[in-house]
Amino acid sequence: MPADPLAIARDLIRCPSVTPAEGGALAYLAGVLERAGFTVHREIFREPGADDVENLYARIGSGGPHLVFAGHTDVVPPGDEAAWTHPPFAAEIADGALFGRGAADMKGAIACKLAAVLDYLAACGGKPKGSISFLITGDEEGIAVNGTIKLLKWVAVRGEKFDHCILGEPTNPHALGDMIKIGRRGSLNGTLVVTGTQGHVAYPALADNPVRGIVALIGALMVEPLDAGSAHFDPSNLEFTSVDVGNKTVNIIPGEARARFNIRYNDHHTRDDLKALIERRAAAAAGGRVRWHIAWEPSNSDVFLTKPGVFVDLVAAAVREVTGRTPELSTSGGTSDARFIKNYCPVIEFGLANQTMHKVDERVPTADLAALTAIYGRILERYFVPGAVRE
Ligand SMILES: [Zn+2]
Repeated sequence: MPADPLAIARDLIRCPSVTPAEGGALAYLAGVLERAGFTVHREIFREPGADDVENLYARIGSGGPHLVFAGHTDVVPPGDEAAWTHPPFAAEIADGALFGRGAADMKGAIACKLAAVLDYLAACGGKPKGSISFLITGDEEGIAVNGTIKLLKWVAVRGEKFDHCILGEPTNPHALGDMIKIGRRGSLNGTLVVTGTQGHVAYPALADNPVRGIVALIGALMVEPLDAGSAHFDPSNLEFTSVDVGNKTVNIIPGEARARFNIRYNDHHTRDDLKALIERRAAAAAGGRVRWHIAWEPSNSDVFLTKPGVFVDLVAAAVREVTGRTPELSTSGGTSDARFIKNYCPVIEFGLANQTMHKVDERVPTADLAALTAIYGRILERYFVPGAVRE
């Protein structure tokens, strides 16, 4: 009898695993995976000032190629539970959809991966023609310091090596089959600080108003495009998110002005090149008249691209065969744990539709759970055909 992704998804949704709580979700996965022959590790990671978080790594098989399914069982809080048509952790089915927090992001996709793997193992006598792993964190929706970053390091120390990864984030804007993510833009935050000289507003010659300088610099940084986009990315974009002087007094020229900004950048830039470019442009606009500096915030969100090739083609073909639709290969949207995984192996993201994620009445059509399981199943069948994923 084939594994039932709907039943697995319901079991997972009934585990109230709001970050950082494990909620029983990883224990449930561990039980199913152990019974299927996986070697399962459950690791708790700690960091001063952050909550302890449990994570799971499970592997079956010892040879290559090695395909890892990544994801997270933690969910965002339900918000006002009374606003839900069906309780957020009850996993009720109505109007052809499974309701519950995490249905789309991303317990539904984890259930599909698990069902597809169980079916694949049943078909090959419990022994894959390579290795299959699950890399599941409980710290994706929070500050993500005790999750995938540390789990990947822990796995690497054990000598584990992956050939490819599929992360099950909900990637489809409208319907299953819309979109595979093959990369993500980088993200960088900074604060532009302009220093002036405080003084009486009636005696401007005795002061130096930093507002004048910061307006000039903001204008210069906003007006000139960072690039025109690339083969797989939209143009990079700098967006000011806050301009702050904090002066409550009407007769004082302030001594300092600050403006925060975020840059989403593509593969024309590295983080350091981009910082240098912004500082050159600010310096040109300042022209030696404005005293300024930029405080850059630490970032672990570098741009990356998994180049289209045999692996991306294999996944896209599976999506097309099951849904009848050709998925767009996209690098749009925010960051995800793929930004950490890409340091270990090529990674793509494909999961459910994302219209209801993080919302009240999060839900997924039950038909999509069956279809996504079929997609992951086809990927498994093809992936382990000898030579199939050799570039
Ligand atoms: Zn997610």
